[in-house]
Amino acid sequence: MANSEYEYVKREFEFDRRLPASNWIVVRIDGCHFHRFSKIHAFEKPNDENALRLMNACATSMLEKFPDIVFAYGVSDEYSFVFREETEFYQRRESKILSICVSYFTSVYGMKWKDFFPNKDLREPPYFDGRVVCYPNMKTIHDYLAWRQVDCHINNHYNTCFWMLVKSGKTEKEAQQTLKGTFSEDKNELLSQQFQVNYEDEPAMFRKGSSVYRDKVETKVKTDDYGNPIKRIRLAITVSNLDIIGPEFWGKHQYILQE
Ligand code: ATP
Ligand code: ATP
Ligand code: MG
Ligand code: MG
Ligand code: MG
Ligand code: MG
Repeated sequence: MANSEYEYVKREFEFDRRLPASNWIVVRIDGCHFHRFSKIHAFEKPNDENALRLMNACATSMLEKFPDIVFAYGVSDEYSFVFREETEFYQRRESKILSICVSYFTSVYGMKWKDFFPNKDLREPPYFDGRVVCYPNMKTIHDYLAWRQVDCHINNHYNTCFWMLVKSGKTEKEAQQTLKGTFSEDKNELLSQQFQVNYEDEPAMFRKGSSVYRDKVETKVKTDDYGNPIKRIRLAITVSNLDIIGPEFWGKHQYILQE
């Protein structure tokens, strides 16, 4: 691969965009045509728990594979991956970072499919799109994650009502009409009055989405001469379904975005 007369095609035409320093890099991937994909594979509506767990397992593999990913947040067919502010992953080359995230996630999704759907064959190849956005400070990265979690709430609240109506015998069009112009309180009232469902009792994974990060956990490493456990704090990759909008989560996990 020494200099050939053709080398100029790289030198003069290839340009690597490097993402600006001192910014958190967020890669968000989203399943392509998952409306159709979820139908073909008979996902439960509105939330197929196994499909969500598969997404979470893929995100966990991402954190295992790429240590510079410090936080991930997922809902439905999407996942956001936050790289630490000063990452030098692929010298911050945008196309490398984006393509590696999308292809690794997609490969793991295919590899792990059978773990979550042992009785279903993949009937078409799952594929994902992706984008990269840089956030220059802590406020904007918190607001980015809050934006995704608010979106999760709005969509899930609507979809929970929509599918309750459909499963109770309404057509999809009728359900849509019933929900048109309703506010949050109206939806809660509909759920409790018509279906005796308290929205807050729905599973947290559906209402809050999933966060993946390295959590500080106390683990027993050995026992001392008197039989007492000797404990150490270790970082372990964890999936939780907590509120990440209010101050509580980030108060307890400040170290995730610092350092
Ligand atoms: P695009 O290619 O533009 O992203 P899309 O069909 O994937 O199109 P989205 O807006 O990404 O559209 O919505 C994802 C769709 O996948 C939703 O319609 C949702 O019903 C379905 N879906 C994703 N995950 C699940 C799940 N765990 N359970 C049930 N349905 C799901
Ligand atoms: P990078 O991640 O930087 O691309 P790489 O290990 O993939 O590193 P490449 O320059 O892309 O390096 O080279 C591809 C390597 O994969 C070669 O070393 C080659 O030996 C191996 N390889 C790829 N395809 C084949 C094949 N069909 N048969 C045998 N070896 C192959
Ligand atoms: Mg900065
Ligand atoms: Mg999609
Ligand atoms: Mg989506
Ligand atoms: Mg290669």
